[in-house]
Amino acid sequence: MITLRGLTKRYGDTVAVDGLTLDVEEGRVTGFLGPNGAGKSTTMRMILGLDHPTGGEALIAGGPYASLRHPLRVVGALLEAKALHPARSARSHLIAQARSNGIPARRVDEVLETVGLAKVARRRAGTFSLGMYQRLGIAGALLGDPEVLVLDEPVNGLDPEGVRWVRELVRAQAAQGRTIFLSSHLMSEMQLTADRLVVIGRGRLLADAPMAEFLARSALASVRVRTAGPEDRRVLAERMLARGYASVEPADGDGNGLAVRGASAREVGDLAHHLGVRLHELRTVSPSLEQAYMDLTAHSAEYAATAGPRHTTPPATEGKARG
Ligand code: ADP
Repeated sequence: MITLRGLTKRYGDTVAVDGLTLDVEEGRVTGFLGPNGAGKSTTMRMILGLDHPTGGEALIAGGPYASLRHPLRVVGALLEAKALHPARSARSHLIAQARSNGIPARRVDEVLETVGLAKVARRRAGTFSLGMYQRLGIAGALLGDPEVLVLDEPVNGLDPEGVRWVRELVRAQAAQGRTIFLSSHLMSEMQLTADRLVVIGRGRLLADAPMAEFLARSALASVRVRTAGPEDRRVLAERMLARGYASVEPADGDGNGLAVRGASAREVGDLAHHLGVRLHELRTVSPSLEQAYMDLTAHSAEYAATAGPRHTTPPATEGKARG
C-alpha cells in the first residue's frame, strides 16, 4: 500500500504537486496518468524518498521510504532506466544493488532470467538498446521481491512482445497481492493493464477510480435506451429533457432508440419504470480510455465541478441495469 496525505512539492513559484491525498491499494494495478508536467515523476520521486515534500507525506507500507531498513525488499522502482554506469555490466549493476540490501547473488541471476537478459548479463550496459535498459530497470525493481512496485513508463522503448510481457508481469504481480503503481502515456495499453486509475493535472487530483467507473463517469459516456415503440420513446425523451439531462438524442435510426448524456443507466431505468415506459434495451456506452482521458484533462476544471452530485450515484453497469 502507498499512502499519500496532502502531498505537496513546490519548486520556487511552481507547485509541481498540490495536496495529493490517495491510497494505492495492494492486489491491483493502479495506473498513474497526467499530461507532461502534471507532477507524476515528482510524486514518484517523493514516494521513493528522492525528493522531500514541501508539505504532507508519502508512506510505503505505513512508513516513509527513509524508515525502510532494506528498501529494495519493500519497494522496487523503475524511474530513469538509463540512470546507471554505462561501463558496468547488467549483472554487476544488479549485484551492487543486491549487496546493499542483503539480497543473495542468485536472486540477481533469477531476475535477469525473468526479464530475458540472462544471455547479455555480462555485456556493458552502455551498449544496450532502450528496451534492454527498461528490462534491466525492471529486473532491479524485482530484485528484492518487493510488495510494492513503482514503475515510471516501463513500456517506453519496448517492442510489442515486450509491452505485452510487462502487462502480464505486472498483472501477475498484482494477482499475488502486491501494490503496483505505474505511469504510461500509452492509453490503449493502460486500458488493458490497470484496474484503477489516478489522474492528475497541474499537480492536483482529477480522478481516482476503478477503470470501469472512470470510463462510465466520463462526460463522453452515454446511456443507450431502446423503448418498445415510438410513443414510449416520445414520453421518455420529453420527461428526460424536462429533467435537464445534458443531452437526449435519437439514436439507432429505428424510431425507438435514444442516446442520453448526463444521467446514469440506473436513473434512466428508474424513470422509465416510473412512467410505465417499456424498455427493450438499456446500457452504458463508455468511451475508450484515450477519449475519456483527453476529455478529462482538457476540461479539468469542469470535471472538478461535475464530480459532485451528478456522480454520487455510480452509473449502473450494463448487467445491473438489465437485471
Ligand atoms: P510529469 O512527470 O507529470 O511530466 P514532473 O513531475 O516532471 O511532471 O514536473 C511537474 C512540474 O514540476 C513541472 O512544471 C516541472 O517543470 C516542475 N519540476 C520538476 N522537477 C523540477 C526541479 N527539479 N526543479 C524545478 N522544477 C521542477
